[in-house]
Order: sequence, then structure tokens, then C-alpha cells
Amino acid sequence: MTEEKREELKPSVSFIEQFIIDDLKEGKNQGRIHTRFPPEPNGYLHIGHAKAICLDFGMAKKYGGKCNLRFDDTNPVKEDVEYIDSIKEDIQWLGFDWEEREFYASDYFGKLYEFAKELIGRGLAYIDDQPADIISAQKGTPTAPGTESPYRNRTIEENLDLFERMNKGEFDEGSRVLRAKVDMTSPNMHMRDPIIYRIIKSAHHRTGSAWNVYPMYDFAHGQSDYFEGITHSLCTLEFEVHRPLYDWFIDQLKSDDYRPRQIEFNRLNLTYTMMSKRKLLELVQEGKVRGWDDPRMPTICGLRRRGYTPESIRRFVDLIGYTKVEAINDVLLLEHAIRDDLNIRAPRVFGVLNPLKVIITNYPEGKVEEVTLINNPEDESQGSRNVPFSREVLIEHDDFMEKPANKYFRLAPGMEVRLKGAYIIKCEGFKKNETTGDIEEVYCSYDPDTKSGGEASNKKVKGTLHWVSALHAVDAEVRLYDRLFDHEDPSGQKEDDYRSFLNPGSLKVLTGCKVEPALAQAKPLDKFQFQRLGYFCVDYDSVPGKIVFNRTVSLKDTWGKMNK
Ligand code: ATP
Ligand code: MG
Repeated sequence: MTEEKREELKPSVSFIEQFIIDDLKEGKNQGRIHTRFPPEPNGYLHIGHAKAICLDFGMAKKYGGKCNLRFDDTNPVKEDVEYIDSIKEDIQWLGFDWEEREFYASDYFGKLYEFAKELIGRGLAYIDDQPADIISAQKGTPTAPGTESPYRNRTIEENLDLFERMNKGEFDEGSRVLRAKVDMTSPNMHMRDPIIYRIIKSAHHRTGSAWNVYPMYDFAHGQSDYFEGITHSLCTLEFEVHRPLYDWFIDQLKSDDYRPRQIEFNRLNLTYTMMSKRKLLELVQEGKVRGWDDPRMPTICGLRRRGYTPESIRRFVDLIGYTKVEAINDVLLLEHAIRDDLNIRAPRVFGVLNPLKVIITNYPEGKVEEVTLINNPEDESQGSRNVPFSREVLIEHDDFMEKPANKYFRLAPGMEVRLKGAYIIKCEGFKKNETTGDIEEVYCSYDPDTKSGGEASNKKVKGTLHWVSALHAVDAEVRLYDRLFDHEDPSGQKEDDYRSFLNPGSLKVLTGCKVEPALAQAKPLDKFQFQRLGYFCVDYDSVPGKIVFNRTVSLKDTWGKMNK
């Protein structure tokens, strides 16, 4: 795509950016812009998180502000240091920087505990001894008001004493909770005396066994924003209904005009893709994929291993934009973005996935010549390379047909094709395995006057094939991927039904592939276009003597075509 076309397709500023521009104009928060990205360290980041990251870090960067990384680590049962490390790596890889501002909700456990005690002291929170199911039943429904707990009017002294003893570990998990005393008749269910602290006796990855009570996410999140001086708290739409509760807490806490402004946007959903961390963890634990970074996963590390670039992901996020309506984006657009990026970035090389030997009978035995090939027609600065050519070359098996179909312009008895960058060859015969019927070798003659770039090189043939010299080519394994799910909306169906939509053909491993010799030096994550076949990326599983490639995408741009 041309630069002009890119600009034309670029969305105008989002409604969120407009709010930020307006706040700056009005001089709110002394002209400060301060955002945060608040992942819960209970899984790996996925492409949906990239949408939030690009906004949180992107807005701060664009308007001279700051963006904090804050781990929302309020539930020690589900969280792990492994996730913290991976989250940091992925954000950096995407091209963003939190500088020295790496924070944890657990940094505020002390402050939050004091604040909870203050609420108790002001008669705005109480200990409820009822079990979870009763509390939940008493919440009522959106149309029927809730029922007040019999413990709602305990004395302040009793509440304070119980809360402290909860934290000392005197009571069992689930036996008591601390609830904010808001309004059991509120039309907003989140305001009906929400639970703000619960007893958990597992050790926390940062605070160890210092605490036996832990704040609920809803009690920690808004206040953490407040403690950090966040000006714009950007989050997904499902938190819109939580906003009045966050405001209620801040009203009790604040001493001046400052408060974080929460703005909600639509979450990213993609066709044929499942985005829930809990379910992605199940896929990993049940061995349905080869790990969080399996190239079929929508995780950032999976996309990285698949061959996606940070630029392509940022570009994709730019294209889909931010709105107030839930929608599902076409995964073809994501594939379009990577294809577009790799078209400019990836050097062209020859790789043969299913080799068939061609012997050029009139080419001198033992002779090797170098042919020169352009690395990338889209980028002259990538220059050219030399590739060895010899008497025996390997071509793609389906580039030969014993009895050519109509309009088949590749190799067949009596037909001529060009070996790209080298000579025109003519098929003179072939060897077939009598029992299996497989074609084992093809015999050709070549015309020395038809060398690419040479005098007679303008001789026209209809077909051009990629090839490698049999003697020089190196071994490769190629992993071809298809969609992990064969249902357009795998997680929008019945809960846990997603397993029945797993595509049994989502991974195809090809061994015995051959690639041009220079690729022996390629490093994991190096990206190439195998001419005529698609974009490929070197996998971490490569070992000396055998390179493993993941196919990132094929060459066919379905989205680009549909939107021409
Ligand atoms: P899940 O529900 O899968 O566990 P989550 O929203 O709980 O995901 P968090 O770690 O809390 O995951 O997410 C951190 C931030 O990323 C939040 O601000 C959240 O709104 C945002 N985010 C998560 N998923 C998406 C998505 N699909 N699209 C856009 N933003 C997202
Ligand atoms: Mg969350």
C-alpha cells in the first residue's frame, strides 16, 4: 500500500483523544496527561491488550504525558511472577516504555486497608458474616431492590474489631467479608453494598503472608488511579457501570478537585479468535496448543513467534480505532496489516516445501554458477544476493504435471518454464515409480542463451518457478498454520463450547523442505518471503543443520481485495 493510501485510511482522532485535547485546552490537572495500563498478572497479554496498550501509552506519548505500568495484583490465588515478566517483555516489544514507573496495586495494600478502616469509622462499611450465596441472593435484580443484610447496622467498634481480626487470620476464608454501605435500592447493582475486602490465606507473590485480607478489584482500581495521580483512566466498556462506584469511593477519599477521569471504549474482538485469558489458559493447560506462545494463539508472544512485527500490530490497532459500540473485527484485517508490513520489510528467498528433483541433462556435471537475485523489489536498499545454480535443482512438486491440466503453465512434458533468475528449461522426460505412481525425477534441457539478464533473456515463457540447487540447499521444517477455531465466534457460543470448534487442521508440519543456502545463517524471528508461497519466520526450535520456519501468512490478501 502506498503512503498516500495509508494516510487516507487513517481514522481521524478518536473520541477519547478529543476528550484529552479538550481537557488540555481547559487546563484541567495543570495541563498534565497521565495514563496507566493495568494488567492483572494472571495470564499472557493478547492482541486485545495491545489495543489498550497502544491507547494508554500512545496518548501519553503524543501529548507529552506519562503512562504507568500497574499490575493489578489483588488476587494472590491466580497471579504469578511468570506473567509479570512476560507482560513487561511484550509491552517493550510493542514499542512502549513505562520508564521507572512500574507499580503494583499491592504497593497500596497498606493505604487501602487504612482507607477501609476509615470508611468503617465513618459508618460507611460493615462486616457481613453471611455466606456468599446469601449475599448474592439479597442483591436483588436490576428491577427489584436488594435486601439489607442483618449485619448492616453493626457498631463501628465491632466492625473495626472484626476487620482487624480478619486480617490477623482468626477467621476462615469465606466466613466474613467487608462491604461498603452504599445503597441496597440503587438501580445500579454495583452500588448495592459491594464487597470490598475478602479473606484469602494464600501467600502473595510480593507481600508474602503479610495480609490475610485482600481488596476486591473494584476497591483497589479506582483508588490506585487516584494515588498515582492518573488523569485519564482508559478502560473497556464493561467498566462503565462500575464508574459510579469508583466515583463514590473517590468522593470519600479526595481532599481537592482532582479525580481521575474514566473513559470507556469498545474491547477488541476478532473473528475466529478467542480472547479470554481464562480460556486461553485452559488451552495451554490441556495441551490443545503448544504453550502461550504457540503461533496459533492470539497472545502477543504467539503473534511474535508467528512472525508479526510490532509495527503491524500498532498499524492494525490504528485501523480499527476506538468507539463506544461492541463489535467484532475481521481477522483478515490483522493479516492484511502484517502482509502489508512484511511486503516492504521481508527479503525474498527461495524455499521449496515439497521438493521434486529436476536434472538438467545438458548442464555440465560439477559446474556451479552464481545467479544474482534482487532481495526485495519494494525496497532497493535491500540489494541483491548470489544463489548457487547447478545441474540438479529442486522445484515444488506441484509445479510439475505429467498430464497438464488446461491453462497449466508450469512444467510438463515438452513444456518450457523459466527458473527464476536463471535459465529457461524444457521438460524432456521424467521417471515414475512403477508401484506408487509417484514422479521421482524430471529431466530437462536448458538453453544457455536464456540466462536472466543475458542477451536472449527476453525470450517469453508463461511460467516462472522458484527452485534451489539440490547440492547446496539446506534442510528445513515448515509449520503451516490455519485458524485455531473453525467457528467465526468460538467464545460467543455456550460456555466452554469453544473446545468443539477447535480446528483439527490448524497445524500442518512439513519436513524435508529445502531452502537456499544463505538461510543457514538465519536467526529466530528473522522474516522472509518465500517467493510464490507466503511470509515465513524462523522459529526458536531451529537447530544447526535444520531450520524451522513458521508460516506467518500466505500471500493472498483477501481483505485488501474485498476493500479495493
Ligand atoms: P480477561 O477478561 O481476558 O481476563 P481482562 O480485561 O481481565 O481480560 P486485564 O489484565 O485486566 O485483562 O486487562 C488489562 C487492560 O487491558 C484492561 O484495562 C482491559 O480493559 C484491557 N483489555 C483487556 N482485554 C481487552 C480487549 N479485548 N480489548 C481491549 N482492551 C482490553
Ligand atoms: Mg481485568
